[in-house]
Amino acid sequence: MISLRSLLLLALLSIGCRAAAQPRVIAHRGYWMAPGAAQNSLASFVKADSIGCYGAEFDVWMTADDKLVVNHDRIYPGTEIHMERARCRDIVRIELPNGERLPTLDAYLATAAAHPAIRLVLELKCHATPERESRAAAKIVRALKRYGLAERTDLISFSFHACCALRKLLPEANILYLTGDRTPQQIADAGLSGIDYHTQVLDEHPEWIEEAHALGLEVNVWTVNDEKQMRRFIARGVDYITTDCPEVLQRLLREAE
Ligand code: MG
Repeated sequence: MISLRSLLLLALLSIGCRAAAQPRVIAHRGYWMAPGAAQNSLASFVKADSIGCYGAEFDVWMTADDKLVVNHDRIYPGTEIHMERARCRDIVRIELPNGERLPTLDAYLATAAAHPAIRLVLELKCHATPERESRAAAKIVRALKRYGLAERTDLISFSFHACCALRKLLPEANILYLTGDRTPQQIADAGLSGIDYHTQVLDEHPEWIEEAHALGLEVNVWTVNDEKQMRRFIARGVDYITTDCPEVLQRLLREAE
């Protein structure tokens, strides 16, 4: 029988160990600020890998004809093309600022399969209905398995329903919730892996970082582009920092070693 004192000591040790480790660098929408890249482009994934990021984040929608595409905004800027209401063949005609066509998830995963060092951080966007999110989740999991990427992918969503749907399909995956309206205890109770919250949420609830770690959860923070803010979250012992400026964060982490 383990005494209460030993349990407390183990918990403190685990917090101490986590605090000592440096946060891992996630390139937000890939390393899109690199020359020749664009947000959520295949090039942004390759560039994130080329500078040794831990992971590349990207956003996934299910189109009107139930295909999966990689893009951030619901309506592509400068067009009336709505990711959920347009057909895939019309969406993939969109030209990204770097000259690529807007990628399907298939194309993105094929690229990822050829770059084995970097993790994927797949965001399932909030869709019109929970049913569409469940269907998208099932399709995403099938696609990840088809490319042998289920173990190399972390999943995130602002939709709590989507996170729970993904958890049912992938019991072992890292699944983190984005919205910031639930406590670490609520996330642990739902069987999710962690919180992936906006800087402002973690500034309002600084205690959530330690609470999450004590519950065995991971903590990611987004989107941290300012050096001062990066230093603050490095010092606070988060597990991941999601940034548009991965090379800046990498430099700060090297300096902090
Ligand atoms: Mg995203």
